[in-house]
Amino acid sequence: MLLLKNADVYAPAAKGRADILAAGGRILRIEPSIELPPAYVEQVDASGVMAVPGFIDGHVHMMGGGGEGGFATRTPELMLSDAIRGGVTTVVGCLGTDGVTRSLAGLLAKAKALDEEGLSTFIYTGHYGVPVQTLTGSIERDLLLIDKIIGVGEVALSDHRSNQPTFEEFARLSAEARRGGILSGKAGVVNVHMGDGRRGLAMLRRLIEETEIPATQFLPTHIGRNPSLFEEGLAYAKAGGLVDFTTSTVPAFLDEGEVKCSAGLRRMLDAGVDAANITFTSDGQGSLPDFDAHGRLRRLEIGRVTSLFAEVRDAVRVEGVPLATALQVITSNPARILKLRGKGALEAGADADIVLLDAASLEIDGVIAKGRWLMKARTPLVRGNFE
Ligand code: ZN
Repeated sequence: MLLLKNADVYAPAAKGRADILAAGGRILRIEPSIELPPAYVEQVDASGVMAVPGFIDGHVHMMGGGGEGGFATRTPELMLSDAIRGGVTTVVGCLGTDGVTRSLAGLLAKAKALDEEGLSTFIYTGHYGVPVQTLTGSIERDLLLIDKIIGVGEVALSDHRSNQPTFEEFARLSAEARRGGILSGKAGVVNVHMGDGRRGLAMLRRLIEETEIPATQFLPTHIGRNPSLFEEGLAYAKAGGLVDFTTSTVPAFLDEGEVKCSAGLRRMLDAGVDAANITFTSDGQGSLPDFDAHGRLRRLEIGRVTSLFAEVRDAVRVEGVPLATALQVITSNPARILKLRGKGALEAGADADIVLLDAASLEIDGVIAKGRWLMKARTPLVRGNFE
């Protein structure tokens, strides 16, 4: 049993000072004062720190991605310590551009490995292409038969690397995701990679308009990648759509007009977008290819899971977004949208996934996942098997 005393609790809503008791991987009680005999419980003084839900990173190329500059540019796998340092206790893995040398079987194995190492993991079926390749023969079967599969993605639209699916093809894919989600009690969300193309969100808007599939079935990502997609995304989110910002970036992208996540969050909130419609993900381990005007690859960087909370911290410290609101985009919002039960909240019955933040600097001080310390006093306590 673990008892955190005197933490400033953000659930993510601000709850004030409280004690948190966890056992068996779950939070048992959060109350103003919990007293237990020291012999039975590890008691930790948490005064001076904020206790917040473990972060959910809903779009990570956990088994590596890339290869867009040839084989030597394939990116490496996610290491456990990358997630720990970023306070990420729940990771949703996906394939990306490459659905040939990266397979769903491999992605599932990587998710299971990270699970064994202490995280909570899920995956999307499919990759950029349409029709999507699946593990068991169809999206619906994958959702129904494979516990870790919670949706489809990342399927690419408005991008030169997309399969350029027709409206009918994309509608069918989305319908299958929805039915599979309903039957399996999962989200069945379609995670859509948005490219730089001028068609923008047109396909999604048309689907919502012309079919019975609701906007909540789609989570378009990279929404801040250029000013016009951002503006379109703002209007889309204001009308009830969900939008996801990618926190990994490089200075060159920002110079070329990418909207920095922290600033994008502020602008959307100021424009009247419901905070519940916005999420952040890191695109961790994904390649960040920089193509020139002729579509030629200039250079390649790699996405980092640690960028996820860094952008939330900037939203609070630079943009003045209230902490409880900023935390939502990496805790309660993805938990609700992706139907991750027990995740994204500090409350009795939830999984004991807790991040401790230094109250003054908002630096990550401690990480607890499924009730186990992964980082304490800013020092990671565990490593992956081959780190
Ligand atoms: Zn993408």
